[in-house]
Amino acid sequence: MQNIEITKIKNSRGAANTYVVKCNGKAVVIDAACSVKELKNALNGVQLAGVIITHGHFDHILTLDEILKAFPDIYCYLHKYAIDKLRDPIQNGSEPTVKQALIIQTDASRFKTVDEGDALELFDEKILILETPGHTNCSICIKIGGNIFAGDTLFAGGYYGRTDLPTGSAAQMRQSLRRLKKDFAGLPFYSGHGEEGII
Ligand SMILES: [Zn+2]
Ligand SMILES: [Zn+2]
Repeated sequence: MQNIEITKIKNSRGAANTYVVKCNGKAVVIDAACSVKELKNALNGVQLAGVIITHGHFDHILTLDEILKAFPDIYCYLHKYAIDKLRDPIQNGSEPTVKQALIIQTDASRFKTVDEGDALELFDEKILILETPGHTNCSICIKIGGNIFAGDTLFAGGYYGRTDLPTGSAAQMRQSLRRLKKDFAGLPFYSGHGEEGII
């Protein structure tokens, strides 16, 4: 097991948590809701190797353009169904929720899609992608060492993400939660909103 350090950056405007995960001198960022300045503070000189998006909702991609511009050598990793949401303010929820269209401008060449079972090698610890549809069709959880980054799939206190938004599915959510509880019981999870918990 590698030495993994997790920093949580809370968003002051009510959007998602951003997590900076460091391992042996490299880091990845999970979701993009913090400012570049907050990200650089959290990195504290450690090299950023990539950004991973848990799903395509606006509150998780708020500052994606700025981050990808500030770090021109990295890629953004996300589920293939999240790609459409980046440039669609209805699908990413920005228009209906905050009446402000968020349309990601960054060139498509900066995005790489991930699928169930993919293992990203961005630093010394394997980054495992789990497809967990339900909150959206593009929701993934990310396993790094013994930690699960759950996006809006699972929340502290036994709560889970809403399934009534576009591409949500209560049936898929039940399946995804069952799978997480079966395969990863007892592991700590880090949510897109609020506090951490144990699966
Ligand atoms: Zn969210
Ligand atoms: Zn969401």
